[in-house]
Amino acid sequence: MLAILKDKSLFRRQCLINGQWCDADDKSVLAVTNPANEKQLGTVPKCGAAETRRAIEAASAAFPAWRALTPLQRGAYLRDWEQAIRDNLEDLAKILTLEEGKPLAEAKGEILQGASYFPWFAEECRRVCGDVTPSFRPGTQGLTRHEPVGVAAAITPWNFPFSMLPRKTAPALAAGCTIVIKPAGRTPYSALALAELGVRVGIPAGVINVLTGTASEIGGEIAANPAVRKVSFTGSTEVGKQLAADCAPTLKRMSLELGGNAPFLVFDDADLKAALDLAMACKFRNAGQTCICANRFLVQEGIHERFVEGLTARIKALRVGDGLDPATDMGPLINARAVERVDGLVRDAETRGARLLAGGHRHALGGNFYEPTLIAGLKRDMQIFQGEIFGPVAAVMPFASEEEAVALANDTSYGLASYVCTRDLARTWRLFGALQYGMVGVNDATLASAETPFGGVKYSGLGREGSSEGLLEYMETHYLLLGGL
Ligand code: ADP
Repeated sequence: MLAILKDKSLFRRQCLINGQWCDADDKSVLAVTNPANEKQLGTVPKCGAAETRRAIEAASAAFPAWRALTPLQRGAYLRDWEQAIRDNLEDLAKILTLEEGKPLAEAKGEILQGASYFPWFAEECRRVCGDVTPSFRPGTQGLTRHEPVGVAAAITPWNFPFSMLPRKTAPALAAGCTIVIKPAGRTPYSALALAELGVRVGIPAGVINVLTGTASEIGGEIAANPAVRKVSFTGSTEVGKQLAADCAPTLKRMSLELGGNAPFLVFDDADLKAALDLAMACKFRNAGQTCICANRFLVQEGIHERFVEGLTARIKALRVGDGLDPATDMGPLINARAVERVDGLVRDAETRGARLLAGGHRHALGGNFYEPTLIAGLKRDMQIFQGEIFGPVAAVMPFASEEEAVALANDTSYGLASYVCTRDLARTWRLFGALQYGMVGVNDATLASAETPFGGVKYSGLGREGSSEGLLEYMETHYLLLGGL
C-alpha cells in the first residue's frame, strides 16, 4: 500500500479517540486484505466496548463547545475538510480501490460524491430556522427551534467505505453533533484516511472519533450507552433490525439504510440504447455490490428480445480485473464468501429453469473474481427474485402490462430504489405513485446526491440521507411557550 501513495501518512492504521491515534487496549489487531489478490494490506486495532466507551465520553465532552459554534463556523471546518479530500483525491482513490476492489475511476467518483456532502451541509445548517407559531390562547406565544441531538454514531458497510462517512458525518457535524464512527472491518482505511484529513484541518479533538474492531462489541456499546442519542446505520436488513432492537432500551433516534431489491422496468416505448446504458451502469457498478443496484430486470414483451440481445453483448464486453488497472471495468467481489453466495444464487436459478446467456461462473482470474452474468427466464420462485443479489448478475423476465409490472416490482419486502425506462409522462406519474419504493429513477439511475433524500421504505429502512431532511435527522425540535404576555 505505502509504496503507491504520494502522502504516506494518509495510510493510518490506528483508531482516533479524542484527537489521539491509538491501538486497542490489549494491542490486538485485525488483518485487512486486498480483495483482488488476498494479500494483506495491513492491520487495524481490534477495539471493543472499553475503547468505544472512551470514544463516546470524548464525543460527549466535545459536544458543548462544538454546538456553541455558529453554523458558519462549523461550516468552515466542513469546507476545509472537503478541500483536503479534493487535494488528496489520487491517494484516497488508491486506498479505496486497494481495500474494496472497485475500479480506480469508480473510487474517484465515490470520493468526490462523498465530498459533496460537506459544502451542502455547511450551507444547509445556516438555514435551519425555527417557527413563531400563531398563538393558540390569548397572552401566549409558541416558538420552536432545532437543536443538535447530542452524540451521534455512524456504522458503515464495506461497499462504499468512503462516501458513507461524509453522508453521515457532514450532517451530524453541521447540526452541532459530535460523532463516533465504526467503519466496516474489511475496509477501514478509507475511513481512517478521512479522519486524518479531518484532524489536519483542525476539527477539535473528540468531535470525530473512529473505532475499528469487533462489530458486536463496538455496536453493543454504541447501542447500550445512553449518551449516544442517534445511530445512523448502513448495512444489511438483518443487522439493522438487530441494532434497532439493541437500541430500543435507550430509545435512540435511528436512520437505517438497509438492503434493497430494485426492480428495473423497461417499457416498450423506452429508448433502447439509453435503457441499455442505464442497465449496465445500474447493475455492474461496484461489481453489483450496491444496495440500489438493479436486482430484477422486468422488460415488456415488445422490447424484451432486443433488450436481452443488447444486454448480452454489453455484458460479454466487460473487462474484469484488478481495480488499479485502468483497463478494468469491473473488479473482484469483496471476499470468497461473497463469490460463494452469488454462485449459489446462479445455481439456484439454473435448477429452477433459468437460461444463462452470459457468464454464470467463477472467473478464470480465480480468487474473488466472478463473471459478469446474464440470466433470462427469471421467475418469482428463484432466490434472485426474492432477495438482494449483491453481485454482477443481471436477471431478466418479461411482462405484458403496466399493472403486471407494478405487481411484480412491489412483490418484495424491500423498498429502496426502483427504476423505470419509458418516454410516457403519464405512465411515469402513475408509477411514481404505484411503486412502493423510497426512490424512483426514471431514465436515470444516479439517485444519490447531497441535494436529494436517499432512503427506503418497508424493510429497506428508516430516515433519509442528503437534502434538508438529512440534516434534521440529527436535530430535535425544541418548543418554547411564552405565557403571561
Ligand atoms: P455488510 O454485509 O454489507 O457488511 P453488515 O450489516 O454485515 O453488512 O455490516 C454493516 C456494518 O455493520 C459493518 O460496519 C459491520 O461491522 C457492522 N455490524 C455487524 N454486526 C453488527 C452488530 N451486531 N452491531 C453493530 N454493528 C454491526
